Amino acid sequence: PPVKDEIGTLVDTLNLMLSRLEKAYNELDEAYKAQRRFVSDASHELRTPLTTIRGNIDLLEKMWSQTKNQAQLVEASNSIIPFHQDHFLLSQEAMTDISAEAKRMSTLVNDLLALARADAGYVMEKEAVDVYALTEAVVRRAQLLPRQASWEVGDLSALEGIFVQGNEDYLQQLLFIFIENGFKYTPEGSVTLKAERKDDFMAWIISDTGLGINPEQVPHIFDRFYRADESRGVTAGTGLGLAIAKWIIDEHQGSVEVTTEEGKGSTFTIWLPIDFN
Ligand code: ADP
Repeated sequence: PPVKDEIGTLVDTLNLMLSRLEKAYNELDEAYKAQRRFVSDASHELRTPLTTIRGNIDLLEKMWSQTKNQAQLVEASNSIIPFHQDHFLLSQEAMTDISAEAKRMSTLVNDLLALARADAGYVMEKEAVDVYALTEAVVRRAQLLPRQASWEVGDLSALEGIFVQGNEDYLQQLLFIFIENGFKYTPEGSVTLKAERKDDFMAWIISDTGLGINPEQVPHIFDRFYRADESRGVTAGTGLGLAIAKWIIDEHQGSVEVTTEEGKGSTFTIWLPIDFN
């Protein structure tokens, strides 16, 4: 009978809606959990340098008040103020520590801001960007980075006359992240930048002969705060660089490929669609 059919259809529809709601709920729940994890990881990362800075400032304060007391005593007895070699060295170390940690915090805060923007659905301003000129600018900046590896710029001619619809600042940051990582994880050997063009896409290829990445860890390197075990000892990174890189690539409808072998090195290839207008 038709009524039974209608009820049947209604039940089917309700079931479908229910399963969709369930799916949406699970997605929201996942996103919410990820967000909470992000905030808690971020707070933890920010607390570590803050603790070091506080400790060093306490130390400086203590030394300063000791020195002041001694200076007052010396002044009262009318003799020459003694020079405390120990205090001098200690305070110098403390200030170097403070400066390094403050720098680390400022990198971290900038990275966190970029990701907070990504989460908030920030839309990048885009225009036709001259990729060759942009690459040259990044290459110049990269020359100033600290490194043990040699830095080789290969053939970039594939980029001549190529434009990409993109955000110049973020594209610079993108390429920079991969070059900087190459230097960070290549204690000896070389880091090379090349360019390629295939159909409607251009690519930056950054390869290094450094540490490489364990195959089990490769799927996670673009996650926020993820750092492969071997790299922890090497440098004080934030684990956010590649997460930001991934966001910038996605925003430009690009893609990234990784080939890597532990102890041999890694190659990152970043594909971006060419703007033909
Ligand atoms: P960070 O470098 O601050 O740790 P990233 O997000 O840039 O964070 O990279 C995540 C992890 O991926 C690094 O900790 C490192 O283990 C690994 N990685 C990235 N680039 C390279 C590379 N060129 N060679 C070896 N490992 C790399």
